[in-house]
Amino acid sequence: ARESALAARTRDHLRSPIICILGHVDTGKTKILDRIRRTNVQDAEAGGITQQIGATYFPIEAVKKEATKIEEGKKLLYNVPSLLIIDTPGHESFTNLRSRGSSLCDIAILVVDIMHGLEPQTRESIDLLKMRKTPFIVALNKIDRMYDWKAQPHNCPTRASLEKQPSHVREEFFRRVKETKLQLAEIGFNTELYWENKDVRKTVSLVPTSAITGEGMPDLLMLLMALPQRLLTERLMFTDVLEATVLEVKVIEGLGTTIDIVLTGGTIHEGDTIMVVGLDGPIVTTIRALLTPHPMKEMRVKGQYLHHKQIKAAQGIKISADGLEKAVAGTQLMVVEDANDEEEMEYVREEVMKDFQTILTSVDRS
Ligand code: GDP
Repeated sequence: ARESALAARTRDHLRSPIICILGHVDTGKTKILDRIRRTNVQDAEAGGITQQIGATYFPIEAVKKEATKIEEGKKLLYNVPSLLIIDTPGHESFTNLRSRGSSLCDIAILVVDIMHGLEPQTRESIDLLKMRKTPFIVALNKIDRMYDWKAQPHNCPTRASLEKQPSHVREEFFRRVKETKLQLAEIGFNTELYWENKDVRKTVSLVPTSAITGEGMPDLLMLLMALPQRLLTERLMFTDVLEATVLEVKVIEGLGTTIDIVLTGGTIHEGDTIMVVGLDGPIVTTIRALLTPHPMKEMRVKGQYLHHKQIKAAQGIKISADGLEKAVAGTQLMVVEDANDEEEMEYVREEVMKDFQTILTSVDRS
């Protein structure tokens, strides 16, 4: 009881960690997202897991339900409001999406196909993670593809599932894990199966998963919960400073051009004056509507947006406003306190356009 009081107290001050997923093509990034999303569909109906704009909002109670299937998960504090998982897998989103110059992602899932080990884009992804100093875990996906694997139902935790495997399957499993560990060691990363990892600051955790059978999903969620707790509490402290990244610019019937953003810090309000990067220079406009998808419905269903007067970080949000036609995705959004204050306007203009420069350079390079 003491612990849950502590969890409740810190929860008011911590925002949701933002999670990205990257790795080589066909390793199962999209499938893992789908699987996580479909976990506890009944809860989703009751206002649980919701697909947000550009992200999936996984409320803490749903995470807890899965993660406490595992011993380690019972010892954690569930003190963030949710896990916010960015929907666009792949390293384009990881490199281009930034808030204030650093990666939008607090933690990352690097997906490796256990049947293939490290592949060219795995290495690229690792370079990016290294460069941005983003903590990550490795999902060793597709364990069900090992010969003779006996799939266990209901999102079975990995170790429970391993115990049910015949000894030759377990042997193959440990052999493949060892190979991947060696490959990762060759490029400078110490890794361990997460239940053997004694120090997450120095050693990257491996979590065996199957996006098809759901095996290892509780383990994955448990680790996504544990990692920020050990490494990132400070970064997750809620601040009043508004931080937001434009994910996408989209025309929506009845709304005109809208922007989808991830709000990573502060609180944003209907009627706020905002500035975003535009192809022809900064765009200044006023928020007409702050929207999130209706919790009960798929976001693709037209006209099912909920309107909000204000929204607190971290959340995925759709903004409707005039003049967004030339907005540029992947850049930051800022709020202007006083549009008549020339000094402030100049400052915000410079800040916002800094991102445009970095985006242009990264486009030049590729
Ligand atoms: P992405 O390119 O990394 O997003 O990969 P996808 O999620 O599109 O998956 C690529 C292919 O692998 C698809 O045919 C998936 O059905 C399949 N796949 C993904 N995860 C698993 C898994 O855990 N087990 C098996 N057997 N197949 C998987």
